[in-house]
Amino acid sequence: MDIHILGAHNVESKGARCVSIVIDGVLAVDAGGLTSGLSVLDQTKLEAVILTHQHYDHIRDIPTLALNLALNGGGIDVYSTPSVCQAIETHLLNGTLYPKFQESAEEKPAINFKFIEPYETQRIDVYEVLAIPVNHQGITVGYQIKDDKGKAIFYTADTEPGLSHCWQHLSPQVLIVDVTVSNSYDEFARKTGHLTPAFLHEELVQFQELKGYLPTVIAVHMNPSLEKEIKEEAALVSQILNTPVTLAKEGMRITI
Ligand SMILES: [Zn+2]
Ligand SMILES: [Zn+2]
Repeated sequence: MDIHILGAHNVESKGARCVSIVIDGVLAVDAGGLTSGLSVLDQTKLEAVILTHQHYDHIRDIPTLALNLALNGGGIDVYSTPSVCQAIETHLLNGTLYPKFQESAEEKPAINFKFIEPYETQRIDVYEVLAIPVNHQGITVGYQIKDDKGKAIFYTADTEPGLSHCWQHLSPQVLIVDVTVSNSYDEFARKTGHLTPAFLHEELVQFQELKGYLPTVIAVHMNPSLEKEIKEEAALVSQILNTPVTLAKEGMRITI
């Protein structure tokens, strides 16, 4: 499985894109930096996009992807919970901000919304995709994505602490996890629904207790202005738990 991190941050600036991950060039997870991170040709090779929640930094490239695909006569399945699909239809693809790409009359629509049901494994292309609710504002799900060779990742989406209820459903080799702010922002993290390196530490301890192993950990959704502190604090977690905890970068590729 080839895991390509297109965007690794919670904001956009030169060199930093919002979170978007592409598996094997065909399955995109969240659409923060999706179109700015892929050539148009590579965008046409995508089979599906799965979205974790409706916050703008995770769905923002759905309209630009739709326009690129429509101009090339293509279309794509976009999977998420009904409330996320509805939010995109109401606020973005509403005929005012962008065309209603999900309703194209003559030809096949560029966007085909498909609902996912938490805790039910869904087959998307060659992948088994399992949505697990996490602790964030509104309805947010993390995804375990398992390929036909048994390789699996779990992406937590944005989440605050308290993930132990997720672990029993999962056995990923790689955990891609929200670490938005450094430890001194722990109150902010709780208030806004995110993790710090110290919170991540607690979650990993519980993971190890429950599952008997630790996955390779890749942090995403960092705030660029706090990245130096997050990196130092994550290195400490890595040292204590004796497992790699790496901060993702735009363009990073991991093969499992
Ligand atoms: Zn969010
Ligand atoms: Zn976010």
